Amino acid sequence: MKPNIKDLDFNEALALFNSLGEKDYRAAQLFNWLYERNVSSFSDMTNFSKKLRALLEERFEISPLGLYDRKISKIDGTEKFLFSTLDGHFIESVLIKSDISGEGRLTVCVSSQVGCLMGCGFCETAKIGFKRNLSAGEILDQICHVRRESALKNNNIVFMGMGEPFLNYDNVLKAADIMNYSFGFHISVRKITISTCGILPAIERYIDEERPYNLALSLNDSEPDKRAQNMPIEKKYPFNKIAQMLEHKFPVSRNRLTIEYIMRKDNISSDDVKRLKKMFRFSRIKLNLIPLNPGNHSLPVPDADDIKKFTEELELMNIPVSIRKSMGQDISGACGQLSGKKYFNNTNEAKA
Ligand code: SAH
Repeated sequence: MKPNIKDLDFNEALALFNSLGEKDYRAAQLFNWLYERNVSSFSDMTNFSKKLRALLEERFEISPLGLYDRKISKIDGTEKFLFSTLDGHFIESVLIKSDISGEGRLTVCVSSQVGCLMGCGFCETAKIGFKRNLSAGEILDQICHVRRESALKNNNIVFMGMGEPFLNYDNVLKAADIMNYSFGFHISVRKITISTCGILPAIERYIDEERPYNLALSLNDSEPDKRAQNMPIEKKYPFNKIAQMLEHKFPVSRNRLTIEYIMRKDNISSDDVKRLKKMFRFSRIKLNLIPLNPGNHSLPVPDADDIKKFTEELELMNIPVSIRKSMGQDISGACGQLSGKKYFNNTNEAKA
């Protein structure tokens, strides 16, 4: 298999062009073609000589993902994209047209792995198990396809699709850095969010490296024992340890840390509010509440009154909250519903 040109960062592209006897500025031009202009063929790179275009074509893949299917929600316009990788796996991305960040923007939710190793009880991706990490280029190509297909330029990127981003740390961070290049997508660091279920050493590394992107942690329960029932990672990296580490390390001057919390009927009591307040008494957080989406689980869904009471109590405790609207449920595109299935519509009929 040919290497993928989208796996290269700026320094790697520079080294490539230097080795070909080309000038340094070619590197920035390449990123401009790949991301800003979003071309799908080397032959479109018209400020490169014919010889250079032919050589790149011969040596590199330009698009490591094939668009296999696309579904649009009739309820809210959310779009789900199913991609095939060159080695025959399937991954999904979601384009969310309404506002999940509270800022009225478009958001692309990207996958970071084929499948997932984490085994969370409420999540469909867990059910397919872990296949492999995605490369930086495979992460970036999701955005290229979504932009091209939808003719929309998307402002927010969330690493909340399939997989655990912090178990693919290097490729995820490389992709995020490339998204941020001014001669590429030029997406501001504040519009890129990396979400993790809580890989303690990777969170610590992220903070120590002073990475600028928003960080979101999937907490989902205020009691360790209950959390461990649905999130096996709690046994390896207890969330209390993460909270302690954050208290010491996470500078108050930074962007607020987002804590994601799936609301079930049995984790939104007044005691949960008190435990949350205690857990984050020294940290600057905002709580993003996610209504539990249906899936292959039998967890209890809260009703509107329970949710209202919980949010009001949190607000009384001065904990900033936002409620994530559940988007794209009819196309299984909501949080925890991505399974990379070759067929959609919940039928068992595979697409040809
Ligand atoms: N592995 C990363 C990235 C996946 S993000 C992480 O855990 O953060 C997916 C987000 O959707 C997580 O916050 C997760 O808790 C949430 N989620 C998963 N299944 C869900 C479901 N059935 N209903 C609502 N949210 C869900």
